[in-house]
Amino acid sequence: MAEHSNGGRTAIVIGGGLAGMLAVTALVGHVDAITVVERDRYPQGRTFRKGVPQARHLHVLLTGGQHALDELLPGTLAALTDAGARTLCMPRDLITCMATGWQRRFHEPRHSLLSITRPVLDAVVRERALAAAVASPTRVDVLEATEAVGLTGDAGRVTGVRVRPRDGAQGARTVRELPAELVVDASGRGSRAPQWFAELGRSAPREETVDAGLAYVTRMYRPKDPATAPDAGINIPGWAESPRGAVYVPVEDGNWLLTMSGVRGHHPPTDEAGFTTFSATVGDPYIHELLARAEPLSPVHGFRDTCNRRRHYERPGALPEGFLVLGDAGCTFNPVYGQGMSVAAIGALAVRRTLAAGGGLRPGTAARAQRAVARAAQTAWVTAAGADRPYARPEDGRASLVERLNMRYLERFLARAAIDPVVGAAFRDVFCLTAPSARLVAPRILLRTLFLPRRPAHSTPPLTVETV
Ligand SMILES: Cc1cc2nc3c(=O)[nH]c(=O)nc-3n(C[C@H](O)[C@H](O)[C@H](O)COP(=O)(O)OP(=O)(O)OC[C@H]3O[C@@H](n4cnc5c(N)ncnc54)[C@H](O)[C@@H]3O)c2cc1C
Repeated sequence: MAEHSNGGRTAIVIGGGLAGMLAVTALVGHVDAITVVERDRYPQGRTFRKGVPQARHLHVLLTGGQHALDELLPGTLAALTDAGARTLCMPRDLITCMATGWQRRFHEPRHSLLSITRPVLDAVVRERALAAAVASPTRVDVLEATEAVGLTGDAGRVTGVRVRPRDGAQGARTVRELPAELVVDASGRGSRAPQWFAELGRSAPREETVDAGLAYVTRMYRPKDPATAPDAGINIPGWAESPRGAVYVPVEDGNWLLTMSGVRGHHPPTDEAGFTTFSATVGDPYIHELLARAEPLSPVHGFRDTCNRRRHYERPGALPEGFLVLGDAGCTFNPVYGQGMSVAAIGALAVRRTLAAGGGLRPGTAARAQRAVARAAQTAWVTAAGADRPYARPEDGRASLVERLNMRYLERFLARAAIDPVVGAAFRDVFCLTAPSARLVAPRILLRTLFLPRRPAHSTPPLTVETV
């Protein structure tokens, strides 16, 4: 058992981002000490940092993620709202254009998106996670500007982490070893755990990818006259005949974020003029028209690594003792579905529940927790990978017959969801991660999707809220 310098059981969390802080929250009370190893130095204010490059882009927290976050760290949703987060009830406050037209707009108090810039969200969660730890019996230390460069142990068991300071004099940048009973990899989509496994003499977990080759661009705006700003966010996802998408949502401080995307062959440009021109080529001109009434506040930021990728650490024999993977390090999603942070929160809650049910950290607990983390990601994986399958690369494998049938069904389902509140509710339950994907084919939903007559949705953006 790894001893902290003060004695007791220790855990190390690699990565002090969102999943890392949620891992701390899940572990608090179950170990005596936690050391978070974070490559960056946190900024003074709630601002951008290099280690989370995607933080420039629009991030929303889905209902399922909100519930998990508030259970892990009670009061965090209120703290995010105090920090300026906007709550967008669906479908009232986010109007959506699909292949068949604009979705109906009404109030249905089941789901909301929490919209806030990512640096503020991360800072609020970090502050609250560390404050909660101070009030617990677990001691938490954060080693900033410290990079994990490998693991210690052998093929069967991880016993610690090799770390190196990132700043300081060259001579001071020597590698040292930190022992731990449990190491949690929360280092994000760039995780090097598979390579570190090879250094320990074990094979990497099986990896699955579905890559739509999507590229992202984002710019921040402020409406010139707040009185004429739209009263809802706008979502125009791409579809087969128009594989370019745009989402324009309010965030804190009266600002708005516009993120646009396109699959292979439709990548949005990262220059300012090209950005504006591209906005006119998505499935509906509404957002492009709104830009004339807004002033840009930021440069255009791009992002390309948007592949759906999951590593099957939960499979029998895939995980050494003393190791656990959380967040993007284990499973990343095409960001257009807005799922990654929610899945990290649902996964962290699953870890906490596994620890509580098993009486804390014992042999086999990490493997059980890893299976719970994988289950927590399943709905998001099925929906994101399923929706992206038509755009996947040949090396991602051919779609099976079942996947091809799913794709045909999904197309009809989305068309029906736009006009039918019952089918729409099922859509939101699954895509907001509060129901398993089986809800998409529940008998009532299946019948309405397949047998009710096809009708087009609204041809223009629904600017008023209807009563249903
Ligand atoms: C363009 C884009 C838009 C997105 N939009 C959404 C959205 O709307 N909603 C949503 O839920 N999700 C969204 N996501 C996904 C979301 O960003 C991730 O799911 C989330 O950041 C995962 O958190 P994480 O802590 O696992 O990883 P990260 O947030 O990437 O954090 C990883 C941390 O580990 C640190 N680190 C990395 N390597 C090391 C090392 N070797 N040693 C020490 N520290 C290390 C990094 O500095 C960082 O602090 C989006 C992603 C992208 C790319």
